[in-house]
Amino acid sequence: MLVVFSMEIKDQSLLKTEAYIDGKWISKSSSFKVSNPYDGKEIATVTDCDASDMNDAILAAEKAFRIWSNYTANKRSRILQSWYKLILTHVDDLAHILTVEQGKPIAEAKGEIKYGASYIEWFAEEAKRVYGDVIPGQSRKNRITVVKQPVGVVGAITPWNFPSAMITRKIAPALAAGCTVVVKPSEYTPLSALALAELASRAGFPSGVINILPSMDAPALGVSMTSHPKVKKISFTGSTRVGKIILKQSADQVKKVTLELGGNAPFIVFPDADIDAAVNGCFASKFRNGGQTCVCTNRIFLHTSIHDEFVEKFAAKVSSIKTGNGLDEKTFIGPMINEQAVSKDLELIEDAEAKGAKIVVGGHRAQDLFLEPTIICDVNNTMDIFSSEIFGPVAAVYQFETEEEVIQLANDTNYGLASYFYGRDYALIWRVAEALEYGMVGINTGVMSTVAAPFGGIKESGFGREGSKYGIDEYLNIKYMCWGGVE
Ligand code: ADP
Repeated sequence: MLVVFSMEIKDQSLLKTEAYIDGKWISKSSSFKVSNPYDGKEIATVTDCDASDMNDAILAAEKAFRIWSNYTANKRSRILQSWYKLILTHVDDLAHILTVEQGKPIAEAKGEIKYGASYIEWFAEEAKRVYGDVIPGQSRKNRITVVKQPVGVVGAITPWNFPSAMITRKIAPALAAGCTVVVKPSEYTPLSALALAELASRAGFPSGVINILPSMDAPALGVSMTSHPKVKKISFTGSTRVGKIILKQSADQVKKVTLELGGNAPFIVFPDADIDAAVNGCFASKFRNGGQTCVCTNRIFLHTSIHDEFVEKFAAKVSSIKTGNGLDEKTFIGPMINEQAVSKDLELIEDAEAKGAKIVVGGHRAQDLFLEPTIICDVNNTMDIFSSEIFGPVAAVYQFETEEEVIQLANDTNYGLASYFYGRDYALIWRVAEALEYGMVGINTGVMSTVAAPFGGIKESGFGREGSKYGIDEYLNIKYMCWGGVE
């Protein structure tokens, strides 16, 4: 049921509050509230699925797998293409829904919808390029062939920070490979997920191929996904804490798993860097989505020789940030997602200040779920903020003297997702890029996420890659066929 929703949504049938299981919209007696983080107002009550609904969805997906995986790649590709086109046709409505439930500025929401859709287009193309191999044998009697087959039913669990793109980034390659999916979106942002399901139903996916189950009981649905023998693969994006639970649960049946977890991205500026470019790159990387992305800059390491110039220019930009309602075109940063997120950052700021760091800009709660965009300088590795994922609009600035020292500091974390650095000497660039223990390195850029590149981490940031030519492999099994008696 929708409690409050803007009439600005042109296609009102995109506003779904029921679960999408086996091609049908299912309403349950229990429901949960979704609210707008901007003003805390309730916007919808959404069906609350339980473990038995997840079980139904898995069985539907298993039945659909036998149909979908037998479609030709061309046929799957055409259906994915029509889903992609429908999403682009409805970008304004989808972005509006996303901003109202998640808070991000409308321009960023439109960007997310297009970015998310790009995964569907990309994997619609890749569906047709799942090549096998013919391998020269060791004996004249034998021939060796290799084929790739879809793994089966995929369980996907997604977070609130990219309510649309984190779903398409997982399920587009799964569907392209011939898998079927059951999805549990974040309880904070189920409406964007359900709007995608509505468009998928119009695109012509057979019933049961895509199932989306909103729920307040994530642990129960997680257990039913990871313990069900028909689910062959789990793809999870979220915190490292929950990722570890999913991995442990999946171990019992040795399920394939992809984990996109937290990050603690360093952003290093060397003395020969283009400072203006570095300031712009850092600003983009730190404050996108209000700092609430796993690839956001977390620790800014400035060489002492350029520290003051960088901080002065950076502070000028950060002081001019406009926060507010994401639906207002002038807003650059919306609210944070919940009270817990705001208080965690306030505690990190307080701890850093108590240990000697200095606030240069911001540092306080503005009101409700709004934290002032903040820069803190003189931060060091004894402070909690060094090892915590900030996930908010707080920029922590460190200083360094030598390349060796900064590499050691940058790698001194359990995380290994994104990293960034600015410099011009090409030998230094190679050395540093190779030494950083991260799945992704941005060199003279603060923004690097694109469908064409493999997104993913190492260490406790997880494993597996999303996007690029590698992304579809997460949803395929390799089968080797040995042909004997060929003489
Ligand atoms: P975030 O910090 O992004 O909210 P979480 O890891 O808490 O990260 O949440 C990511 C997703 O994992 C959400 O869909 C959430 O509902 C789900 N989730 C949370 N706890 C569990 C759990 N124990 N088992 C399965 N899923 C969970």
